[in-house]
Amino acid sequence: MRILSNPHTHTSFSDGKCAPEEVVRRAIELGFRSIGISDHSVQPFDTHFTIPAERETEYRRTIRALNETFRDSIRVYASVEFDSFAGVADRSEYDYLLMSAHYVERDGAHALVDSPPNREKLFRLRDEAFSGDGIALALRFYEMLSEAALRVRPDIMGHFDTVKRFNREGLLYDEASPKLRRAQLDALECVYESGALLEINTGGLARGYVDEPYPSRGLWRRWRELGGRAILGSDSHHPDTLNFGFDMMRDWLIEEGFSSVVELGGQNEPLFVERALR
Ligand SMILES: [Zn+2]
Ligand SMILES: [Zn+2]
Repeated sequence: MRILSNPHTHTSFSDGKCAPEEVVRRAIELGFRSIGISDHSVQPFDTHFTIPAERETEYRRTIRALNETFRDSIRVYASVEFDSFAGVADRSEYDYLLMSAHYVERDGAHALVDSPPNREKLFRLRDEAFSGDGIALALRFYEMLSEAALRVRPDIMGHFDTVKRFNREGLLYDEASPKLRRAQLDALECVYESGALLEINTGGLARGYVDEPYPSRGLWRRWRELGGRAILGSDSHHPDTLNFGFDMMRDWLIEEGFSSVVELGGQNEPLFVERALR
């Protein structure tokens, strides 16, 4: 089978490169049954990457209109990527809520974990608020994510382990720490308990930031053992990466023992549809 849907895409309403219509047209070219537009939800600060508050109504209206225009070819869903620390969203206005963690915070100080212009701020936060202890920072990231998952109960948990974004050379924390592994497994359990689908996110791979998807493959088996369900997203900021790595992720899911994956439903289907992987 081929995965013909993507719930995690960005447009020029937030930090994506193209208008929603270009994203939808590319999805139709790829033979997608459905596409979800999920620009970064309104925030009270760091608004450089989010939907401006004064454009949120226009954002939803634009996506609803695209669903009408292209309804014979594809189902277009309106969503937002809600940041679990900073985001604001009236979820009743959206078809589903994708929640992701982009920040780590302690004692009122916070930093983005995945923003190249803010990389030094993250390392400074580790050195100052966490006394240089990178594992403590990573543990705090998963603690915040777990708390938010149980409080918000999102439909989809986006890019689970983004805190690894700047840890390619192990400069932020020790990836092999058993404490870290424990925290990741505990957080996975909280996400499962929240009822969310877990996104297998290829956005970091597409942009060459990381060597593994989010979450790393080493966590997938545990998710399956918990009974969790996975959905593929490419976190695309350009229509060219709408299905980046999807065939490989499908093969990996099969190798990890998954028999199905979830997709956004097409026209006249439910919001989420389970598709057999073979
Ligand atoms: Zn994100
Ligand atoms: Zn995103």
